[in-house]
Amino acid sequence: MAEFDVIVIGGGPGGYVCAIRCAQLGLKTACVEGRDALGGTCLNVGCIPSKALLNATHHLHEVHENFEKMGLMGAKPKVDWAKMQAYKDDVISGNTKGIEFLFKKNKVTWLKGWGSIPAAGQVKVGDEVHAARAIVIATGSEPASLPGVPVDEKVIVTSTGALALSAVPKSMVVIGAGVIGLEMGSVYARLGAEVTVVEYLDAITPGMDAEVAKSFQRILAKQGLKFVLGAAVQGAEAGKKGAKVTYKLKKDDSTHTIEADVVLVATGRKPYTDGLGLEALGVEMEPRGQIRTDGHFATNVKGVYAIGDAVMGPMLAHKAEDEGMAVAEVIAGKHGHVNYDVIPGVIYTTPEVASVGKTEEQLKAEGRAYKVGKFSFMGNGRAKAVFQGEGFVKLLADKETDRILGCHIIGPAAGDLIHEVCVAMEFGASAQDLALTCHAHPTYSEAVREAALACGDGAIHA
Ligand code: FAD
Repeated sequence: MAEFDVIVIGGGPGGYVCAIRCAQLGLKTACVEGRDALGGTCLNVGCIPSKALLNATHHLHEVHENFEKMGLMGAKPKVDWAKMQAYKDDVISGNTKGIEFLFKKNKVTWLKGWGSIPAAGQVKVGDEVHAARAIVIATGSEPASLPGVPVDEKVIVTSTGALALSAVPKSMVVIGAGVIGLEMGSVYARLGAEVTVVEYLDAITPGMDAEVAKSFQRILAKQGLKFVLGAAVQGAEAGKKGAKVTYKLKKDDSTHTIEADVVLVATGRKPYTDGLGLEALGVEMEPRGQIRTDGHFATNVKGVYAIGDAVMGPMLAHKAEDEGMAVAEVIAGKHGHVNYDVIPGVIYTTPEVASVGKTEEQLKAEGRAYKVGKFSFMGNGRAKAVFQGEGFVKLLADKETDRILGCHIIGPAAGDLIHEVCVAMEFGASAQDLALTCHAHPTYSEAVREAALACGDGAIHA
C-alpha cells in the first residue's frame, strides 16, 4: 500500500491544479484520473476544444464578413473539416501533455484508473489500495439528459459529440440557449449550418444581465442563428437522416416539430460522482447531486474534501482551479480562500460576452441604490477599426459609495477586459478609481474606463 499526504481524485482543472499546489506546498501527492489524458472535461471535451473551433470559425467569419472591406481580396478559403478537427485535436493533446509535464516537474504521481474511496483515508485504483491523510474529490460533471431525448452522440449529441461530428451538418437544432449551446451553435452557424436554438425560458443565457442578453440575442440573430423561446421540448427522435424535435410553445400550448441533421442537447451539466462509493462512506449530498461541503471544502467525513463541478457554485474551470488551490492551502494548514463574489463568466462568441458581480436585476431585487455607467463600443476607435463597434460596457456602482458592484460587457475581447474590473472589485475599488486610471490608446479597455467615467461626471466619447 503506497502512502500519500494527499490523493486527488480527478485530473480536471480542479484536481490537477490542486495536486500541483499540494506538491508545491511540500505534500506527497497523487492524482487519480481514469481518462487516457489529464485535464478533465475542460481540456479534453470542454473549454479548450470548443475555443479551438470558435477560433477557426471566427477567422472564417472574418474572411467572409470583413476582408473585402479592408481591401483583402482573393479566393475565400474552403473548410477542410478533417483538418479543422485535427487542429482541434492537436490543441487538446498539446494542453493535456503540458499537464503531464507539470505533474512530472512537481513530482505528482498520476495513478491511472478509476478511483473509489472504500474507507476514509483510503483510495482504491484498480486492485491497489493507497493510503492518504487527505482525499480531495474533484470528479467534475457530465452533460445533463432531457427526458424523451435519447443521445446517441452521432445525430442527437451532447457537447462532447458536437465537438467531433463526422461532417458539418446542413442544419442543427440546439436545445438550450446557455453558454455551451450558443458557443457550439455559433461554430456551426459560421460553418454554414442553419442553426435553430430552442429555449424553455423567454430569454437566452439565464442569469445574465437582461440588457446584455437582449443585445446578445439580436447580434446572434443577425449572424443567422434562429431562436424559438418559451418552448418546452417534448422529445426528439433520430431517423435515418437527421432527427425530429417536438416542442410546445408555452404561450398557447401549440405543438410544433422541427427537423435537423443534428440535435445538440445543451441543457446544462450535472455533478459526476458515480463509482466513488460516497453513499457507503456516508458523505452528505445536496438535493441536486452535488457533494455537500463546508466553507473550507470539507465534507462531513473527516479528511475527505470536494471541489469544482462536483460541489455547489458556478460550473466553471477557473472556479474549480481556485478551489483546487484553496483546498491545497487548507490541507497544508494555511488559509485557502475563494471570493465567490468575484468570479467572472465569459461566452467566447463574436462578440464575446463577459460579466462579474451583480446584475442590474439582482441589485433591483435587493433594493440596493446603484448607478449605471454605460459606454458603447461605437465610441471606441479601436473597436470601430476592426468592425466591432456593436456592444457596450455596463458598469454598476453603489449610488452612495461609488464602489463597483458588477460589470457586464458585450464586445471585442470582453473576456479579457472583464479582468481589470475583477481586480478592481477584489481591491474594493470605486468606479472613480477605474476612471482615474490611465488606459492606453487605442485599446478596447478605454471603453471600460469610459463606462467608469459615465458613473461620475460623464464619458468623453459618448
Ligand atoms: P472536470 O474537468 O470534469 O474533471 C473531472 C475529471 O475527473 C475527469 O477527467 C474525469 O475523467 C475524472 N474522474 C471522474 N471520476 C473519477 C474517478 N472515480 N476516478 C478517476 N477519475 C475520475 N468552463 C470555463 O470556465 N470556460 C469555458 O470556456 C468552458 N467551456 C466549456 C465548454 C464545454 C463544451 C463544456 C462541456 C464545459 C465547458 N466549461 C467551461 C466548464 C468546465 O469544463 C468545467 O467547469 C471544468 O472542467 C470543471 O472542472 P473539474 O476539475 O471540477 O471537473
